[in-house]
Amino acid sequence: MRYLILSDIHANWHALEAVLEDASGQFDKVICCGDLVGYCADPNPVVDWARANVTEIVRGNHDKACAGLDDLEWFNPIARSSAMWTMNNLSEENTAYLRQMPKGPVGVNGYQILHGSPADEDEYLVAPQEVAQVRSLLETKLSFFGHTHVQGGFLLVRNGVLRIPKTPPAHSEQVLEFENDVMYLLNPGSVGQPRDGDPRAGYILYDSNERELTYRRVSYDVAGAQARIRSEGLPDILADRLASGA
Ligand code: ZN
Repeated sequence: MRYLILSDIHANWHALEAVLEDASGQFDKVICCGDLVGYCADPNPVVDWARANVTEIVRGNHDKACAGLDDLEWFNPIARSSAMWTMNNLSEENTAYLRQMPKGPVGVNGYQILHGSPADEDEYLVAPQEVAQVRSLLETKLSFFGHTHVQGGFLLVRNGVLRIPKTPPAHSEQVLEFENDVMYLLNPGSVGQPRDGDPRAGYILYDSNERELTYRRVSYDVAGAQARIRSEGLPDILADRLASGA
């Protein structure tokens, strides 16, 4: 089976469209590690698309908040105002979809998907030491997560955890070589709001038969996404940060 693995789309329809075009014909199923909404200005097109096309999904903290299932006091003022705007603008069907998104980890054909960490969907796994603390909770040799908006992830080797270096900015593709006796906790990066210094949308293509996994980056119409954010009166910083990917 060939999987398109996405995370943190964040209502950025322009970025999602570019990913789907870039990956066209190269996948059979779509998997999402959460955060369909929040930050950008097209939650309805993104959730409409997810309802029709995503096979397995876990909820992210923004999905939970925008579904009215969490207290917004945990959010900073910018995330909070985008969550409130999203709640006011989502269709009823899309709100209902967010409300029933499962909490991770969820098992998918021998691997797991989760949003933050296997211990807590809202926890960030940034440093190898943080991953070492939750490694006993990983039930499969291969897991996918999101939340940090940083493409890459971690190799769990016998005596420690190593960070996978992110795709060099000059490249749009990086192949992961699988080895025996290693567990993999992999992050496709963010489609809609990358924070690893590369403004291009990030995703993973994984072929489970061939055991082939590729990290990809694709440029998209950043100006178009920014114009949508500004025209809806969302905080300027949400538009500005898309240009730098920071
Ligand atoms: Zn996110």
